[in-house]
Amino acid sequence: MATATRRKATFTATTLRLASVSHSYGALPALREVTIDVPAGTVCAILGPNGAGKSTLASVIAGVVPTGPGSVQLDGHDVSKLAHHARARLGLAYVPEGGALFPGLTVAENLLVGERGTSRQDRKAILERAAAVFPFLAKRWNERAGMLSGGEQQMVSLSRVLVHPSAVVVIDELSHGLAPGILEQLFAVLASFRGEMTLVLIEQYVKRAHELADQVVVLSYGQVALQGRAGDVTLAELEDAYELDVTEAGAPPASVGDPSPMS
Ligand code: ATP
Repeated sequence: MATATRRKATFTATTLRLASVSHSYGALPALREVTIDVPAGTVCAILGPNGAGKSTLASVIAGVVPTGPGSVQLDGHDVSKLAHHARARLGLAYVPEGGALFPGLTVAENLLVGERGTSRQDRKAILERAAAVFPFLAKRWNERAGMLSGGEQQMVSLSRVLVHPSAVVVIDELSHGLAPGILEQLFAVLASFRGEMTLVLIEQYVKRAHELADQVVVLSYGQVALQGRAGDVTLAELEDAYELDVTEAGAPPASVGDPSPMS
């Protein structure tokens, strides 16, 4: 995964452009001509009901699934043809839904996967940076990641990315299954990194994502149903966009999924 890929270079936030990106699973179109510009150092929240295509969009940006028609551009360079690991080397980091930790490895080992060949001092520095972001880690280095709570695992997943400078970070459903108190901590950490990287946040926790974001995008049936500056879009407008059927075929109204996504 990108989170585990060793990157020697340091990165600063870069622009991310998705130009008319589409993706189909066999005959099923999951994304249809999605165009989004994310200026360097800003936060873009990708919202929408279950099945809207959010995770597919995250995977297309990260290069985990191939870009079909359209292009993914980093700082004006088309990376559509690059595999996931090649995009990671350009500073594109990805936290997939669930975090993708290695449950049988310790917390420290998870943070240092992909760091083979780096000096002992550099590995120590990585752990120190992680503990500076999430202090509880300092007492848990030797614990198996699979034994941590869901929230703690998500903190380890996040710190695997945040210990390295990144150009663009894509996080798929940080909030999935987590208690509100943990979520507040995670969002506070993300807010503290604002501007250091370009952040794409796939979220069901709409209210908090709206607060953090500079730009909000609602997907519906794989298409952009609403897009705007977060300050110009109200929660009510976001909620309405969840119900929009933007397909020409006129599919039935989308299910919001999470019974309290606006809370
Ligand atoms: P959720 O919030 O429930 O995760 P989502 O907005 O992330 O939903 P996706 O997971 O991207 O939506 O799914 C978009 C559409 O593509 C859905 O109809 C889904 O069933 C379908 N889909 C997703 N992954 C696959 C796959 N690997 N193979 C086939 N169809 C898929």
